[in-house]
Amino acid sequence: MRMHAIQTGTVKIKTAQVKGRGHGFIDILLDPNWTDWVPTFAWAIEHPEGVIVVDSGQGTHLLEHSRSLHPYVRWEVGFQIEPEQEIGPQLRALGIGPRDVKKVVLTHLHMDHDAGLAHFPNTEIIVPAGELSQARGLLGQIRGYLPQRWPKWFDPTPVELPNEQFGPFDQSLRLTKGGDVVAVATPGHTPNHMSVVVQDGDTAVFLAGDTSYNQALMLSGTPDGVGGNGEVAKATLAAIKTFAQSRPTIYLPTHDPDSAVRLANRQVVSAS
Ligand SMILES: [Zn+2]
Repeated sequence: MRMHAIQTGTVKIKTAQVKGRGHGFIDILLDPNWTDWVPTFAWAIEHPEGVIVVDSGQGTHLLEHSRSLHPYVRWEVGFQIEPEQEIGPQLRALGIGPRDVKKVVLTHLHMDHDAGLAHFPNTEIIVPAGELSQARGLLGQIRGYLPQRWPKWFDPTPVELPNEQFGPFDQSLRLTKGGDVVAVATPGHTPNHMSVVVQDGDTAVFLAGDTSYNQALMLSGTPDGVGGNGEVAKATLAAIKTFAQSRPTIYLPTHDPDSAVRLANRQVVSAS
């Protein structure tokens, strides 16, 4: 199965966001230290049942974030992106037209994952149900989501992942008839965050969203500074590690600078 890493610009955040210090958002506000610019990836899976896109990446509207009233959006994050780096033009360059995309699956609704939605007006968009209720309306804005930036037509399919075991994950949902693309519940970064596992021959490709900012942090079981519940995040990271030990797994977080290289080289977790 051909899969593409699509880099939709770069982002920089505070180091306290990458590695949690245990006091939540205040640690991010008080942290003077920025990360390097890191990539924001979205993913395209050329599946026999139709192309599946996982996350939609950044959009140029994020460059206006410094005018936001929200303290996180205004002060604690920076973006770089050009119009041709948005996901639509990049898919077209790969020969994938908007109507070839059968489904867009969003791991969660943070602004660097949903800002490319405008490119998919005719595609079914699948979102964790709990994430949608967290992100909606004024309360969503107060939580740091940007529902006011969603396209007018945005009417996603909310999914509750059923209690169906998939490896070490307690909740999962098949996204293809063949059962080779599966959404799994990976709470932590947000309470209803999900990841997408693509079983490609012997190898599982784990599209991790923001379960961790890089592979080393997953392996060390270090929660980030965003999620409200460190124990939940640790359990998720432990489950991912167990999964990766059970079968060859390529682990691909959204912001890991090595994700694209790992996908291209089919570099599995144990071999890293
Ligand atoms: Zn996020």
